[in-house]
Amino acid sequence: DRVLRLESLSRSYGKQETKVHALRDVNLDIPRGSFVAVMGPSGSGKSTLLHCASGLDRPTSGSVLLDDVDLTTLSELELTELRRTRIGFVFQDYNLIPALTTEQNIGLPQWLGGRKPSKGDISRVLSWVGLESLRHRRPSEMSGGQQQRVAIARALVTEPEVLFADEPTGALDSNSGRELLQLLRWMVDEQHSTIVMVTHDPVVAAVTDRVLFLADGQIVDVLDLPTAEAAA
Ligand code: ADP
Ligand code: ADP
Repeated sequence: DRVLRLESLSRSYGKQETKVHALRDVNLDIPRGSFVAVMGPSGSGKSTLLHCASGLDRPTSGSVLLDDVDLTTLSELELTELRRTRIGFVFQDYNLIPALTTEQNIGLPQWLGGRKPSKGDISRVLSWVGLESLRHRRPSEMSGGQQQRVAIARALVTEPEVLFADEPTGALDSNSGRELLQLLRWMVDEQHSTIVMVTHDPVVAAVTDRVLFLADGQIVDVLDLPTAEAAA
């Protein structure tokens, strides 16, 4: 059962002699409930892949199927609505609003979509990320690891079909990074989330189910990792 399919996906920037082919004819299926890492050298197309797959960027050609909806056929308005409700995105630098509390940051996507976030939805995601006691704190009053957990709660509050994470541990110290990875692993194992994560770090990639290696805009290698259960 796949939740996401990339078909002949290409993305280039610029034109003619200065043209850069960031992605070249990428084909990829992401199974529902899997944790996938995307690795590769700087400039290999990792961010472009994540941005095209999540509807933040439009490919030059090819299609992006989320269930049976082709993102490349949607209008800007439809894409915005889809990103708000069916896709979650976590950035390296958290992207929280400094003036808002944890609770307000988490509810923001729903406010922007014209819906009043329910207390129950917010309490549920706060319990997932273990931040019930920090619901009235502002970002400046929390550690990096706590802020990233707020960002994850915000991304998950609408129960997205896929959570995309671009170097989510990149700004964290190794302990906070490890805790965050345990949280993401738990989301996949216990809440059946699907996560696609870009990382430079092999230790980070090792907690996933499958590692895709990008080079020069193409998937050049795929590594399937044993699950924790199979290894036990
Ligand atoms: P990383 O290697 O961590 O992905 P980059 O420095 O390659 O970071 O890219 C950071 C951001 O800048 C990305 O969102 C990417 O789309 C954009 N970017 C990268 N290269 C260029 C470029 N040559 N011109 C404009 N934007 C770029
Ligand atoms: P990675 O995330 O693996 O570092 P990117 O996806 O950021 O790679 O970039 C892939 C290639 O596309 C690089 O050559 C980069 O310079 C180029 N690129 C990315 N974004 C842009 C952009 N907005 N404009 C021009 N070139 C870009």
